[in-house]
Amino acid sequence: MSILRLVIPSPLRRHFDYLPPVGVADAAIQALEPGTRLRVPFGRREVTGYLLEVCSTSDVAASALKAALEILDETSLIEPQLLSLCQWATRYYHHPPGEVFSALFPKRLREGKATRAAGEAGWQISIRGKGLPGDALSRAPRQAEALQLLQDAALPVTVLKARGISSATLRALEDRGLVERRTLSKHLQTPKSFPGLPLTEEQAAAMQGIRAAGDGFFCHLLEGVTGSGKTEIYLQLIADRLAQGKQTLVLVPEIGLTPQTLARFQERFEADIAVLHSSLSDAQRYTAWEAARSGSASIVIGTRSAVFTPLARPGLIIVDEEHDGSYKQQDGFRYSARDIAIKRGQIHGCPVILGSATPSLESLHNALTGRYQHHRLTQRAGSSKMPQLTPLDVRRQPLQGGLSGTLIDAIEDTLQKSQQVLLFLNRRGYAPTLQCHDCGWVAECPACDARLTIHRRRRQLRCHHCGSSSALPARCPQCNSSQLEAQGLGTEQAEDFLRQRFSGHSIRRVDSDSMQGRDAMLELVAEINRGEPCILLGTQMLAKGHHFPAVSLVAIIDADALLFSADFRGEERMAQLLTQVAGRAGRADIPGRVLLQTHYPDHPAVIALTSSSYSEQAAALLDARRSLGLPPAGFLAVMRTDCPDAQLGEQFLRQVKQQVAPQLPQGAALIGPLPSPMQRRAGKYRCQLLLTADRRRSAQQAASLLVASAEALPARQGLKWSIDIDPQDVF
Ligand code: ADP
Ligand code: ZN
Ligand code: ZN
Repeated sequence: MSILRLVIPSPLRRHFDYLPPVGVADAAIQALEPGTRLRVPFGRREVTGYLLEVCSTSDVAASALKAALEILDETSLIEPQLLSLCQWATRYYHHPPGEVFSALFPKRLREGKATRAAGEAGWQISIRGKGLPGDALSRAPRQAEALQLLQDAALPVTVLKARGISSATLRALEDRGLVERRTLSKHLQTPKSFPGLPLTEEQAAAMQGIRAAGDGFFCHLLEGVTGSGKTEIYLQLIADRLAQGKQTLVLVPEIGLTPQTLARFQERFEADIAVLHSSLSDAQRYTAWEAARSGSASIVIGTRSAVFTPLARPGLIIVDEEHDGSYKQQDGFRYSARDIAIKRGQIHGCPVILGSATPSLESLHNALTGRYQHHRLTQRAGSSKMPQLTPLDVRRQPLQGGLSGTLIDAIEDTLQKSQQVLLFLNRRGYAPTLQCHDCGWVAECPACDARLTIHRRRRQLRCHHCGSSSALPARCPQCNSSQLEAQGLGTEQAEDFLRQRFSGHSIRRVDSDSMQGRDAMLELVAEINRGEPCILLGTQMLAKGHHFPAVSLVAIIDADALLFSADFRGEERMAQLLTQVAGRAGRADIPGRVLLQTHYPDHPAVIALTSSSYSEQAAALLDARRSLGLPPAGFLAVMRTDCPDAQLGEQFLRQVKQQVAPQLPQGAALIGPLPSPMQRRAGKYRCQLLLTADRRRSAQQAASLLVASAEALPARQGLKWSIDIDPQDVF
């Protein structure tokens, strides 16, 4: 007897067995490929399941098994390597397989709909149409003409239209059963690459090293300062793959996929490029997915979830800005797209390139220990120089809109030279706190342990953690005083000051409030690249992806806000962010300047930032991590709970800890449970248990124990738990 072992979209960490659909021959069942979609009953619903294997026995008695309802695909839509990757990810992240497999398919296919072959809509003659006597349509000359055209070959709608055949005519023929609709494969263009730039010495060396390592799996870390020509190397490597008839998958950070980047690919290649990012409609996403799967797209560019796109002929995987936090999914299936990309390269047997100006300590560690090949580009590709960071001590200096007199003078000076200024302030809104001057009341979110941010443009108080908003009050709700004060600095407030101080100059605020819609950034970049003097003021949206050649002054308005992060990755992130911001500036004829406003010019992190390169800082940070046994020298996982009741989560985690502690493998330890730093968020109390281990294997074993124990405990009202392997944040 054949049993179908399926993955079902459900939060359960297990597979489900089904009997074959009634009336399907066993030979057909045996021939089913893993990955095939089936429609099955599940509880009271019907869902789409994914075949793992056809087996001969089940742990469940045959009489208790339900039969699948329908086989949805003739052959699997997913290559076997991608299935192996999902099974690996299910184990590694200890996540329910149904949710992992759902990441593979676009919505249309998850809903059980049929695939739509990529191609053009067209018509063909039916058997009945072929056998029709010549004069049968003498009273309908248009139809007769259409039928005549279709005698020899199926034709696309566009061609028929050009010959004067309307869709009404074709539908009339269809009603008579004389023609049928058919999807015709598009005439595929042969991909072509235009010649690349002559490489610099450093680029050539990197290129040669990567080529020499061969077409099989090897992971390369391409560490190159901003503007050193990493993208040019990607483009030339992609050209190699195109010549071999292979596809390249390029991953970019969420806000790194700029129209500029895409335009560079389109200029270099005459090829179908599939683009996958979060603001596509379901239909667009499906079309791009299908182009990648069928192989009609030679290049697939996408953000995090694109790492799971099926590929017909994978030949190369590139992860640009590999250090970027957006590669880690922060809820649900908490995977790292970078790490999945590396595993995928290994399974497919193709090279993986990790590129960054500021590589993560994890990747540097792997490069230093010889696991990855390390290629470095230390010079900008053109003749421009990397700008120097200078600390600007603002102690006892009056600040206006957050800016010191020295900085204001520097801005003035830059504008006078007809150059551009970029000011970085990583806090949107007007001010982070609203306080009553009379009684001390502070506006706090009713659902979170957090203060509300003032958004003056919209006259709102908003919570940046749960997204709730309310009208900006005119009076204190506690004492009715009208003396409400904004405290702290956000981009709106700095903008107000700049408009007043530099009136007559173009000032552009760039944050997620002001940049609504995809075209907003496109228009802005076009405007900036016209090179007129202007002031750009923005959050980390400005720090990534773009290169602004006419910017000659960059200033970090509030470096102190980045200095005191509780998280162990805080300093690494700060070094990456500020190096990236600084890298936006300068071109050949205008050297860039970068000023860092701080009250702590003697802070070790400030000294490190302004006196050493990112590589040097990273080396020091890596030493510190090693001595503390923190990643990449050690391994972490966090089990978190989220519950409307303040006590339940902690009790739950304490029980898990009690059960697991005696069985913990050598070198593993549990810390906590402790309330999360922001204990209450969106009305739920959050708590966490931290797992540390000296080896990956012990971390994995211990994580399995934690998950098994949590699953076995009785479910509690409203309590949700999750496990995060290799977490980004632990505090
Ligand atoms: P990165 O990706 O490292 O930031 P890019 O590849 O975007 O660097 O290159 C930065 C700038 O230098 C681009 O304008 C690019 O056209 C130019 N460039 C890159 N490589 C070369 C080269 N070999 N010769 C001349 N210009 C180059
Ligand atoms: Zn008050
Ligand atoms: Zn809130």
